[in-house]
Amino acid sequence: MIPSVLPTYARAKLNFSRGEGSWLLTDDGGRYLDLGAGIAVNALGHANPDLIGALTAQANKLWHVSNLYEIPGQQKLADKLVNTSFADTVFFTNSGTESAELAIKMARKYHYDRGDEDRIEIITFSGCFHGRSTGAIAASGAEKMVKGFGPLMPGFVHLPFGDHDALTAAVSDKTAAILIEPVQGEGGIRTVPDQCLKGLRDLCDEHGILLIFDEVQCGMGRTGKLWAHEWAGVSPDILMSAKGIGGGFPLGAVLATEAAASGMTLGTHGSTYGGNPLAMAVGSKVMDIVADPAFLDAVNVKAGRLRQKLEGLVASHPDVFETVRGSGMMLGVKCTDKVSAADVVAAGYSAGVITVPAADNVVRLLPALNIKDDDIDEGITRLDEAAGAVKVTA
Ligand SMILES: *Cc1c(COP(=O)(O)O)cnc(C)c1O
Repeated sequence: MIPSVLPTYARAKLNFSRGEGSWLLTDDGGRYLDLGAGIAVNALGHANPDLIGALTAQANKLWHVSNLYEIPGQQKLADKLVNTSFADTVFFTNSGTESAELAIKMARKYHYDRGDEDRIEIITFSGCFHGRSTGAIAASGAEKMVKGFGPLMPGFVHLPFGDHDALTAAVSDKTAAILIEPVQGEGGIRTVPDQCLKGLRDLCDEHGILLIFDEVQCGMGRTGKLWAHEWAGVSPDILMSAKGIGGGFPLGAVLATEAAASGMTLGTHGSTYGGNPLAMAVGSKVMDIVADPAFLDAVNVKAGRLRQKLEGLVASHPDVFETVRGSGMMLGVKCTDKVSAADVVAAGYSAGVITVPAADNVVRLLPALNIKDDDIDEGITRLDEAAGAVKVTA
């Protein structure tokens, strides 16, 4: 008999009832150090007092009004996002996949309005993840996500990750946009080198193509800058955000330049819940905290501590771990072919530490950006225990 909750997830037998900072607690007294933060969602930890304050203050006033009316919180948060980024304008969504949908629509409409109706192709890269809506799975093209769901939205061109020649060959007068995660999350914490992001920007400029960065996972302070692309010194035309931007409250956003957004005129897009007052209250508070340069400095210091300790952990378990990769608080530990990342994550549960598996046999660490130093140290101790306990094949 089918479970009453549609069984699309293989859930771990863990049942958390409270969160406090970087800790998750169970009713039977279990304490788990959370180095996953809901897959980079709880950017400021669990039960953050500032976010609770912002949410409850708004909850006592007004939950929802339609986008038929003014929502001052949208103006406030959009101004903050625009003032601190490449963007001129923002649309608020509720999730990453909704941000992908708008990014795709925006890119096509831009070219359509210029009379380039044939420019509909969007180039994506193997290992990418942009969400689970029909458009976002078509963008990925990965067999495990698309099989059985056809016909898929046409127009996506899937290229191998990091293959420059394939990219140059694929670009044509039909290319509307290139869509890429500056650091792949689900794909196994694979960083696109700064040089390549620059190269993509040049290629797009040369051919009149829009560049879309999916920063749903790597954005919002995760890599130690507000947006991951800032490290490379290049900006996109369109940026997708979600996950950490709401600090645990459902919120997403699409940021764009005035030119890229020019086709999205009255009536071309909408959302019932997008930009609702509760999400705006929490999102504004998250932005106030994360966009503060002193906060980002602290993230980088903490990230350095975590990275250094992880390198030590990897060195002391050569049968289990190969290398550390990623940047800031978005780190991946590549496992050897003698263990599976899923087994390491499960051993972590037994040792009281939460991590997240990713493709390419990688264990992901995406802790709260404000994780305490003591918690970093405790996390490494627990990961050390997990690595000692994991099943290693000969
Ligand atoms: C999680 C994720 C998405 C999808 O976000 P949802 O909120 O689950 O729809 C899109 N892109 C990236 C890079 C992600 O990590």
